[in-house]
Amino acid sequence: MANAESEPDLFPAAREPPPRALTRLSPMMRRIVAPNASPLTFNGTCTYIVGEGAVAIVDPGPDDDSHLSALLSAIEGEQLETILVTHTHRDHSGGANKLRAATGARLVGAAPFMPRVDGMGGLDASHDRDYSPDAILADGERLHGSGYSIEAVATPGHCSNHLCFALLEEGALFSGDHVMAWSTSIVAPPDGSMRAYMASLEKLRRRDEKIYWPGHGGPVLEPQRYLRALIHHRRQREASILTALADGAQTIPALVAKVYTGLSPTLTGAAGLSTLAHLEDLRERGLVVAEAPDGGAARFRLAERRGPFSDKLA
Ligand SMILES: [Zn+2]
Repeated sequence: MANAESEPDLFPAAREPPPRALTRLSPMMRRIVAPNASPLTFNGTCTYIVGEGAVAIVDPGPDDDSHLSALLSAIEGEQLETILVTHTHRDHSGGANKLRAATGARLVGAAPFMPRVDGMGGLDASHDRDYSPDAILADGERLHGSGYSIEAVATPGHCSNHLCFALLEEGALFSGDHVMAWSTSIVAPPDGSMRAYMASLEKLRRRDEKIYWPGHGGPVLEPQRYLRALIHHRRQREASILTALADGAQTIPALVAKVYTGLSPTLTGAAGLSTLAHLEDLRERGLVVAEAPDGGAARFRLAERRGPFSDKLA
């Protein structure tokens, strides 16, 4: 799922929706886009087929019978060895159980979703509670298939169980919802964490994959340049939030109104979640203090201590 707020406008061509039909991407890779277009999923979830003859599928996509039959016909005459899941949002893992039942493949990847708080609101409600993998892949763990090798790269942030998968033979990375060319990721607490997300962007900066294949939209062709832009974008947003706090905005709606000028009213919910994610990160770093009066909305203010930000913003 993506964030609809403004993003670094680096590669406009990458914003084109990819073709929905089975498409050959590389000697080892094919893609089908699921029919679940929405403002958060672009033109649908990308399902990738890796290898030839004996294959793996990365992100089976939503629980949708037409997508399942499209996948089964795409691999007709081949053996599906492994189903890999980047994370447990339903638009990625929802179709996994039926695809496993139809093929006998092993389902591996992200850990099942563990809610941190009672009751689930917001984006946490879109986690797939029926997902039950045969094995969970740990960070750095490698899976060797028939002619392909995949390494799991733990990348929490968009959600806590998010994995990217490196296809070692091609120097390619399946980047899930962590890094997408068409939009920035949505990072929504409590399961999403801005602090973890930023650390996961930095983690990819230390790797050398040359192309990313995301969970939605077309490829990221210059990943290192794009990662730098994403990190810069979030730091700018953080600076705007600190400025708005210094100007006296205290609640999420007041901060959103100051930080996201000209935002369409349909996007204020997403902007509010993203703002909350930044505020939690700032609070963990001791830069912001939160107060939640009984029954009232949480209020935020700059921490009363001298630091690099309070000096600048005083
Ligand atoms: Zn997602």
